[in-house]
Amino acid sequence: MVARQLAGSGADVLIVDRYEIGERQTSACGIPTRWLEELDLMGSERQRFDNLVVHTPHGDSRFPLPWTFSTFDYRELCALLWEGSDARFETAKVEGLATGAQNGSDEIAVETDRGIVSAPLVIDALGWRRVLAGPAGYQPPDAPLSRGLEVHPPGASEDLEIWIDRRYVPAGYGWSFPAGEETRIGVGSFDPKFHVRETTELLAEDLDRDVVRYQGNWIPHKLRQATGRGVFFVGDSAGHCLPLTAEGIRTALYFGVALGRELRGVVEERQTREEAATKYAAFNDSHEAKFKWMLRVQKIVPRIPPRLLGPLIKLAGVKPFVHWSFNHYLQIAPPEFAAQGGTPAKNTPKTPTPV
Ligand SMILES: Cc1cc2nc3c(=O)[nH]c(=O)nc-3n(C[C@H](O)[C@H](O)[C@H](O)COP(=O)(O)OP(=O)(O)OC[C@H]3O[C@@H](n4cnc5c(N)ncnc54)[C@H](O)[C@@H]3O)c2cc1C
Repeated sequence: MVARQLAGSGADVLIVDRYEIGERQTSACGIPTRWLEELDLMGSERQRFDNLVVHTPHGDSRFPLPWTFSTFDYRELCALLWEGSDARFETAKVEGLATGAQNGSDEIAVETDRGIVSAPLVIDALGWRRVLAGPAGYQPPDAPLSRGLEVHPPGASEDLEIWIDRRYVPAGYGWSFPAGEETRIGVGSFDPKFHVRETTELLAEDLDRDVVRYQGNWIPHKLRQATGRGVFFVGDSAGHCLPLTAEGIRTALYFGVALGRELRGVVEERQTREEAATKYAAFNDSHEAKFKWMLRVQKIVPRIPPRLLGPLIKLAGVKPFVHWSFNHYLQIAPPEFAAQGGTPAKNTPKTPTPV
């Protein structure tokens, strides 16, 4: 997303990943449809939902949503984003910041298993490990991380469904996200010490689905500093995944739009790197209250006695409350934001800036 925001700015953008772009799916790939629309990514959409079905041991509820949710094809979404950028790409494993290897006062050097790369603007979008933050990183399971695992059996399904049921996870939820010809079935635990493999398999078996094509990862549930050591952090590396729902793609795109805009300002010499860092950090921090609120709910839900959960969820399913809560939720990273910055104006400055 950041690279796409810089398209046409004249910046010489290099993306480094240990895998090819879109090679490793990291998610069930659910997102509000409007985000796909605003970013011209509808080609990757696989299925759309205007209802959410919530299962509890003491009753099920169907919530009609005020806006639709879509599942998308990960590889295709990544390919579309890539097409919109004019960046270069190399596969390499990033090891960390290289010390004493700067080849210019404002260049930041990054060590990879294929050598050192340096640029005046460096972004860590490497996921929860926050590789460029140095040794002070998180170590699961003793960190504010959730864990998620899913299987991707072939076969269609109609509904977007979640389970709040201690049979699958004491604190967290199970899900079934249909995506055209496959369904993504998984379990996420807010408690990183709870192993989700057995219950992911249990949920798939309960749904009469094959237990095949696993994918899982740690998922941050705490906002972190968005800048440090001269580096910009975005996505899971900055803890941008939302607590409670573990929705992290929309927010990675959202903060990516914001960061891309600030960096474009640097490339076009409208501001310095330090000014961009200050503004991006302030933008990041301005979301702290909302992230904390989501985390509070994440902590409360597992404490509700199961017998009360069914009736409470039914009560929460009244239209005004669903609309109020889902619209507030969407506003944490609203699609209008992408509309304002999704397709940057193309102009080329004189000197290319490496990023
Ligand atoms: C089971 C599961 C289901 C989920 N479902 C959803 C969902 O439906 N909707 C949603 O919005 N969110 C979902 N999430 C959360 C979402 O996947 C993450 O929040 C999101 O992927 C974060 O994006 P990111 O680009 O910051 O990090 P990542 O997607 O983790 O990408 C990091 C990239 O960095 C690369 N990388 C990592 N380390 C290195 C290194 N040392 N050197 C080089 N490259 C490296 C990786 O190969 C990868 O390409 C789910 C998570 C899990 C685990």
